[in-house]
Amino acid sequence: MPPDTRVWTILDVLSWTATFFSDHRVEAPRVSAELLLAHVLGIKRLDLYLRYDQPLTPDELAAFRSLISRRKAGEPVAYILGEKAFWSMDLVVTPDVLIPRPDTECLVETALSFLAGPGSDTPAERWVLEPATGSGAVVLALAKSHPGCRFFAFDRSTAALAVARKNAVRYDPAHRVVFFASDWFSALGNSASGRFDMIVANPPYVASGDIDHLAPEIGFEPRMALDGGADGLDPVRHILQAAGRFLKPGGRLLIEIGWDQKERVAQVTEQAGLYTAVGFAKDLAGHHRVVHMQRAG
Ligand code: GLN
Repeated sequence: MPPDTRVWTILDVLSWTATFFSDHRVEAPRVSAELLLAHVLGIKRLDLYLRYDQPLTPDELAAFRSLISRRKAGEPVAYILGEKAFWSMDLVVTPDVLIPRPDTECLVETALSFLAGPGSDTPAERWVLEPATGSGAVVLALAKSHPGCRFFAFDRSTAALAVARKNAVRYDPAHRVVFFASDWFSALGNSASGRFDMIVANPPYVASGDIDHLAPEIGFEPRMALDGGADGLDPVRHILQAAGRFLKPGGRLLIEIGWDQKERVAQVTEQAGLYTAVGFAKDLAGHHRVVHMQRAG
């Protein structure tokens, strides 16, 4: 932004920044500008337009300049702001966790449809497990709507768990979710075998060789949350196997998958030989985004 020899109103700053971002091929230039400016001013994004002719103070301009340069370097808006909206929550996010994606709301919706379906009126408390929870987005969204269930969520990264626990302070005040550290299912003992009614996961599913070809913004996210091994499906295979042990007979397994993985996931699921009623749910873009199935009885 040019030196502040003139008065910059909110509207001036927004127009200048949106153009600057699009010239530098920053994704979502206008929205990025709005979110960053609202953050600096401590107001809601939509309130920017109620105050469009308000001038910025030199301090506000200086703070905003530094955010612009981070964004120009590709840093995701969510990490700059330290938060991301997901399922009507404003979740804390840091570079220790994957930024929750709108695609993942498909996983939440599908899980909710099963939790509300047949059997949901049985008095027994149902147990739901989320491996690799990251920011806790999925399990917290489920816990919000299903006070009658018990939730367990783990992550290998203790830094990620610290973020999830922060989110739980705000969105799970009744402590329905138990968060614990575990490298995959290793912390679950024999007593957890056959205990869960549902396992729901958004595991890493990008093939290792593809990660560097994704948008540069992705490079700011934890590789551990994205890298699914040579064909992207190592975590899916692992979960299919472990869920065979930890789900009750008839329990549900739901996994988010890549937009082009349906056929291969169907194959891997069949090879696991433990599941029936295999189906796929589509995201808003029409991609098969979630595979769901039932543990054979
Ligand atoms: N949907 C994410 C992406 O393509 C991947 C998330 C994941 O691996 N779970 O950026």
